[in-house]
Amino acid sequence: MPLIALDRVCSSFAAEGSGKVEALRDVSLRIREGEFVCVTGPSGSGKSTLLNLLGCLDSPSSGSYRLDGREIQNSGPNALALLRRRVFGFVFQSHNLLDTATALENVALPGRYAGLSKSAANKRAERLLNRLGLADRSGHLPAELSGGEQQRVALARALMNGGRIVLADEPTGALDSKSAEHVLAVLKELARDGHTVVLVTHNPEIAELASRRIELLDGRVASDSGAIKTPSRKSQPGSLESRPGVMAETFNAIAMGLARIGASLIRGERWGTTMAALGVCVAVWLGGMTVLLGEAVYLRVVHAVNIMGLERIHVMARPGGGFEGLTVEDAVAIEKEVPNVRAVSPAKFLHGVDIRRGDFSANFSIEGTVDRGTKESRGHIGYRLAAGEFITSQEDDGQARVAVLGSVAREQLFPPDMNPVGQEISIRGWSFRVKGVYEHRTGMVFQRPNQSAEEFRAVERIFNAWIYIPFSTFQALFTKHNYLYGISVFLENPDQLFEAEKAIRDLGFRRHGTDAYFLEHSGEHLLEARRQRERMRRGLGALAGVALLAGSLGVMALVLMNVRLRRREIGLRMAVGARRRDILWQFLAEAMALVVAAGTLGLLAALASLLAMEWFGYPVDDIPPLIWAPFSGALLMGLVFGIVPARRAARSDPVAALACE
Ligand code: ADP
Ligand code: MG
Repeated sequence: MPLIALDRVCSSFAAEGSGKVEALRDVSLRIREGEFVCVTGPSGSGKSTLLNLLGCLDSPSSGSYRLDGREIQNSGPNALALLRRRVFGFVFQSHNLLDTATALENVALPGRYAGLSKSAANKRAERLLNRLGLADRSGHLPAELSGGEQQRVALARALMNGGRIVLADEPTGALDSKSAEHVLAVLKELARDGHTVVLVTHNPEIAELASRRIELLDGRVASDSGAIKTPSRKSQPGSLESRPGVMAETFNAIAMGLARIGASLIRGERWGTTMAALGVCVAVWLGGMTVLLGEAVYLRVVHAVNIMGLERIHVMARPGGGFEGLTVEDAVAIEKEVPNVRAVSPAKFLHGVDIRRGDFSANFSIEGTVDRGTKESRGHIGYRLAAGEFITSQEDDGQARVAVLGSVAREQLFPPDMNPVGQEISIRGWSFRVKGVYEHRTGMVFQRPNQSAEEFRAVERIFNAWIYIPFSTFQALFTKHNYLYGISVFLENPDQLFEAEKAIRDLGFRRHGTDAYFLEHSGEHLLEARRQRERMRRGLGALAGVALLAGSLGVMALVLMNVRLRRREIGLRMAVGARRRDILWQFLAEAMALVVAAGTLGLLAALASLLAMEWFGYPVDDIPPLIWAPFSGALLMGLVFGIVPARRAARSDPVAALACE
């Protein structure tokens, strides 16, 4: 049985316009195992077309091609790729090798597609390079090799998976005579060793070497010297019969993609890759910053709210609320009737009160209140004390003349090196003992949008200049009426802030027949902060999304450009046995490697920006899990946008791709 049997094979190409070029017409041919066949003929006679057909790079338009007795006319692209991988080895006229891969990697390539591990493939490749006298060239790139050496590397590659049939298309066409001799010697030796060799040439001298000559003319077999009876051979080379698992193949394809992008970064093509990577990196960084900034702004509010306490509702008389004002009775009713109330503290205040210490005198605001609700180490609305203690219920009951100073009041009344606790001050002529001093407080008011930081600090200082005395003392000494400025209501359970708010409002209705109470609590601020964080995430997030889209398009453009620039590479890979899906995986792996690397960089940049944010006063203690969203988004986009060009690469026609220079 002949190894190769062509029967009435035609091959035509669509030509310019609507015409057809008949590259092969009715070619019938038998080639037996171990023959050394030389195909000659003038340029355009169909030699390359015939060789491509024999090598399963292309299939005939009509007729039958049986390889080893098996009809391959109707085989799909995958089956053809498997045949190329197992049976054939190609050598072309020039540009045979991947220029970003070393000689060794080029030779190992068919083995990798056949599922050999990198080390196994490299070992075998090394032996082949040795055999062809290229041992010292294995680490060199094609550009560093002479034309003859390149062709011998291609021959070694043709033998990588067995090379049962070696197809050489004018392999010496671009070589000087000495290199050509060397290459031909190798081909002869292969034929002697039992490989079937089909050599295309239009050099009659070279054709002399072959045991059989076939001449093509205008797509037809013009003459055939015929097979000699028994081709001389030592043994028959087996083809590599490995059936790699899908995992091993996919792994190899991805590994080759990664190696390829690594090589392209090290050995040129940096510019486009860097730009696309930068796009993705910036997008992920921007996305990360959106999340982190939103969180920081939110945390700042939460921090302020925490100082003020989430457990407190401040009740005041609604301005124009149609009732005379809050009294102590309101405070008592709230304490008794509203569930979840731990304590209430009534408060009154006066502005412009004359305060003296020694010779110093100034006007301050004073507040009469009592610590009924707060936890021990805290002041009346949850503020921390810098020194001393706050007013107790006993002092309130006994109308004690004790005072607690705000930080600014302390700064104005006492020199810095003096401990005010235990000292006397006079309030409107009444002598009071200083009992405690507050820490400087922030977060009582929120900065208005049009307010400068300086103005805002000045407002905060005013709030820190207050002086606090017991409620009953205030009532007895400084006012005649019974009305309160406000009531601080302290809750048992801050989670039910809004329920308590509603209960207090209802109580106001019951007691005064109108919506009497004006309520304030930090919950509002907290909600507003959440809303702001949402707005920020949406606004900046949309920006990051656009950046991500741009970055992904950059990746797509890069891969598309690569697919165009690297058509020859795709063709070569297919010629040595890469299937469509191997090419797909390779390009996808390249795109994804880029996205993962750039995305990681962007993520790290965002995390590094935390330091800057902290420096600007926006710390983030716990990094929100949402930080992964932009990174995952980039991966997804990379996949979506990478798959389009990768599919395009995978669908290339190997013959057309190989025709590219
Ligand atoms: P040779 O290798 O003997 O020089 P080819 O096999 O390359 O000849 O080409 C045979 C004929 O087929 C030529 O006329 C050529 O123009 C045509 N041909 C080859 N490949 C294609 C193709 N991909 N598309 C259109 N025409 C082609
Ligand atoms: Mg040709």
